[in-house]
Amino acid sequence: RRQRRDRLLALLERTAAYYVRVLWESPEAEEARAYLQSRGLEEGALRAFRVGYAPDTWDRVVLGSRKAGYGEGELVAAGLASRSSRGTLIDRFRGRITFPLADERGRVLGFGARAMKPDDKPKYLNTSESELFHKGRIVYGADLARAAAAKAGRVVLVEGYTDVIALHQAGVPEVVAQMGTALTDAQVDAIARLAPKALFCQDPDRAGQESVAKGIAALRTHNKGRSTRAVEFRIVRLPLGEDPADVVQKAGAERMRELLEKAIPIERFEVERALEQPDSSTDDMLSAIKPIIASMSATLLRDELVRLVADRFAMRPELVNQLLQAPDTRQ
Ligand code: ATP
Ligand code: MN
Ligand code: MN
Ligand code: MN
Repeated sequence: RRQRRDRLLALLERTAAYYVRVLWESPEAEEARAYLQSRGLEEGALRAFRVGYAPDTWDRVVLGSRKAGYGEGELVAAGLASRSSRGTLIDRFRGRITFPLADERGRVLGFGARAMKPDDKPKYLNTSESELFHKGRIVYGADLARAAAAKAGRVVLVEGYTDVIALHQAGVPEVVAQMGTALTDAQVDAIARLAPKALFCQDPDRAGQESVAKGIAALRTHNKGRSTRAVEFRIVRLPLGEDPADVVQKAGAERMRELLEKAIPIERFEVERALEQPDSSTDDMLSAIKPIIASMSATLLRDELVRLVADRFAMRPELVNQLLQAPDTRQ
């Protein structure tokens, strides 16, 4: 068993190295290199993350791995190949940019692979769940972020691969991604192992905002656990329509770092969100805000939030305090 696992890991490792070689050395990766350059991603950062290119052929990895002594069963178990309808073994990743997905110790367990053209679907193809690979158990970039997160005392949590690489390149190496929009409990644990503070920096679109809401819930559950290390979350707000990689590319590294420093506490994020609901009445907003404020002890932040609400409705803070303490009369 142990030996089987080690062989699969070695197969994944050599395949990651192969994809890297193809990306930087092969004429067939010309387009991939141009694409990455057009995204503002630099060679140094791409090499640090071992980004590569899976050539657009049917069985290059299958053939090379078999020559190196790996069996068909191993190629399938490692998630690198599957059987075609004709019964031949074909590479899973073809004509895609590859992002190795590694555990906290840097061992490659699978790949995320991005298409380069908008009509190539799916945009990202991942290794499917297997005996080795469980997407929900790892955060992307943990191996590279670990030392930096310990030093900074914080970790930045973004959605995707390109966001991690762009932030790393922008001088923020303490960055990981949950890959997609659902943060799992295992990923919250992984974040807690990296640092006691996390900046939640999701895409400023609908999916990203839902991810923030779910992430806050997952975090609160985590922090209630007795044996777990608590994580303090803050929320980063980005300009509409720009994810972290876009901000770095369009506005620059310094602007991105400024936005990180402006991260706000969860309660403030929730109050602001309630105040921004476009079709919400004053009563609706106040009853959404009530439980948030009620759960807070008397702090500067609580006063600040009461003032924020007061300003929004042009009321005196004392009145807002009263309204927020009154029993809710609506049903
Ligand atoms: P890019 O990563 O090229 O900047 P994007 O910002 O449009 O693309 P999002 O849709 O925001 O990508 O997705 C963020 C992350 O979610 C991706 O980096 C990837 O980890 C994951 N993801 C997105 N779509 C898929 C998919 N179809 N399958 C698997 N993972 C996906
Ligand atoms: Mn997104
Ligand atoms: Mn995005
Ligand atoms: Mn993006």
